[in-house]
Amino acid sequence: MPGRRYNCSCGKKRYRDESSALAAADEDAAAYGESVTVYRCPGGLAWHLTTRGFTPEALRSTGRRLAYALLSSNEVDLDGFDPRRRRRALECAAQMSGLGLVLAADGVVRAVDRAGLARVVQVGLDAYAEEASGQATGSA
Ligand SMILES: [Zn+2]
Repeated sequence: MPGRRYNCSCGKKRYRDESSALAAADEDAAAYGESVTVYRCPGGLAWHLTTRGFTPEALRSTGRRLAYALLSSNEVDLDGFDPRRRRRALECAAQMSGLGLVLAADGVVRAVDRAGLARVVQVGLDAYAEEASGQATGSA
C-alpha cells in the first residue's frame, strides 16, 4: 500500500510504535517539564511527539481534520467544510456515525464520543476503526 511506511517527510523523530513514543514522551516531559502528545504520522506508520498540540494543517487526512473540528466546535456543518474535501468528509462522517463517534443528519455532524474523536485525531480514522473492531476480542 503506498504511503504505509515508517519513513516520512515530517522531519520529526520517528518511533516504531505507540509505546516507544509514549516512553520518549515521558522522558521529555520529565526533562523539560512540558506536556508531550504522541500521534501517528499522517503520512506513514511511524509515531511522532509534539509539544504544541495539533494544528488542522498538520492533520493531512480529512477524517482527522473533521475530528479536530468536532472537538473544537462540537458541531460541524459540512457545507462549511473545505469544499475540496467535502465528499470525503461526508464519507468520514458516515464512518464516524457507524462507530458511534458522532450523530450526522442533513449534512450536520455533532460530536458524541469526544474521547473517541480525540483518538481519531491522534491515530487517524481507519486506525481507530481497526482498534474499535479489535476491542471486541479483548486485548486490554
Ligand atoms: Zn511523519
